[in-house]
Amino acid sequence: MTTTATCSVLVVKGELEKFARGDMCGRCLPCPAGVLSAIAALTRLSQGAGTEGDLELLSRVGELLPQLARCPRGQKAGEQVAELVAGEGEALRAHLARRCPAGACQGLVKYRVLPELCTMCDECRKACPQDAILGEPYVAWRGDNRPYRILEELCDGCGRCAEACPEGAIQRQ
Ligand code: SF4
Ligand code: SF4
Ligand code: SF4
Repeated sequence: MTTTATCSVLVVKGELEKFARGDMCGRCLPCPAGVLSAIAALTRLSQGAGTEGDLELLSRVGELLPQLARCPRGQKAGEQVAELVAGEGEALRAHLARRCPAGACQGLVKYRVLPELCTMCDECRKACPQDAILGEPYVAWRGDNRPYRILEELCDGCGRCAEACPEGAIQRQ
């Protein structure tokens, strides 16, 4: 798997999930309501399904949760969301446009075959768990051999095809 930088969306999502699974006691309503809806919004953004509404929701959680949470644990979760909204607006907007600047959100990473390097060996297609690669192995006597192609709508960005390709013909974008 290709090494990736840190993505602020994934970091805050991970912190909130850890809190929701652990210290959150559920004794006051704003805390679980705010934290769980923020996790859902960050999950959508990390998968390329985020909307303007998600940015507004995060903004509201960041503004209200530090005031309404009954204890410092919930307040801290709200502050983490507020810091993300205040300091990482550019990264949030990039995710809205289905782009992860750190290249860490797997669902937003795309791969493509460089046709000039593809020898039609079939290794990528065999490695793909999503059946997202179209192509047929090279046959010398055929006149219609074509380089392989990745179907973006089926690809989940796992990168196995790029690892399997002996020609370095699959590029991460
Ligand atoms: S803010 Fe504190 S008291 Fe309220 S649910 Fe969260 S952890 Fe419990
Ligand atoms: S990145 Fe993964 S899902 Fe996408 S084409 Fe390559 S192997 Fe298939
Ligand atoms: S593994 Fe590489 S060379 Fe082989 S078919 Fe796929 S893209 Fe082409």
